Amino acid sequence: MSAPAAAALEGGAGAAAALRAVVARVRQAAERCGRHPERVKVVAVSKTKPPAVVRHVYDAGHRCFGENYVQELLEKAPQLPADIEWHFIGHLQSNKVKSLLAGVPNLDMVESVDDEKIANHLDRAVASLGRKPLKVLVQVNTSGEESKSGVDPSGCVELAKHVKMGCPNLVFSGLMTIGMLDYTSTPENFKTLVNCRDEVCKELGIPEEQCELSMGMSSDFEQAIEMGSTIVRIGSTIFGAREYPNKNKN
Ligand SMILES: *Cc1c(COP(=O)(O)O)cnc(C)c1O
Repeated sequence: MSAPAAAALEGGAGAAAALRAVVARVRQAAERCGRHPERVKVVAVSKTKPPAVVRHVYDAGHRCFGENYVQELLEKAPQLPADIEWHFIGHLQSNKVKSLLAGVPNLDMVESVDDEKIANHLDRAVASLGRKPLKVLVQVNTSGEESKSGVDPSGCVELAKHVKMGCPNLVFSGLMTIGMLDYTSTPENFKTLVNCRDEVCKELGIPEEQCELSMGMSSDFEQAIEMGSTIVRIGSTIFGAREYPNKNKN
């Protein structure tokens, strides 16, 4: 066996075990605060990790994976089983929307809709490809840091309304936040997202259960669950630390 193949095998077995440990921690966190464990979904964030390693986690029974670069997802998805539910969680440029939707038929959700323009692009692309309606989350910038990613909390109702009323090929499914620019988050960030959901549900007249809260990553997912998260996006705790060949690219 070649050295890279051996490394992938070892990495894969480690990742599968780590996934099981994460799923157990998610369940315990949900139970601690009296929530139903089935109501918290784990997105295994596989960015920078090779398909062979993802495959091990798949073989351990996991089906939901997240990626945040279009090109990387376009390369990986065809090498992996078609019943994976892919979540796109990165910043999306309008000129990549069509190739993303065309190249990943099993894309289940785009978590990172942060303005009307990208929502409109997604809506039109779904229609022109004849795909079934696509689930989307509105990404909210809950840290107030200068950043292109995420609508200001004060604008989340308007954007959610636009998706629900103005984009017939999209299914408004809830809200997502990263937190701080350095990919950490604080309880205040989570609280802000919870408040946004309350407002969105009231203004749009939808029940809370129909508005997912995607918040919590490797270092803080248990706290996020205690604060009401329904989707946690976990990368390094499952797959190990990421190595970027070119630091400037991320
Ligand atoms: C990379 C990434 C994650 C996972 O981060 P970890 O700290 O490795 O768990 C979650 N959400 C988004 C949007 C990401 O880009």
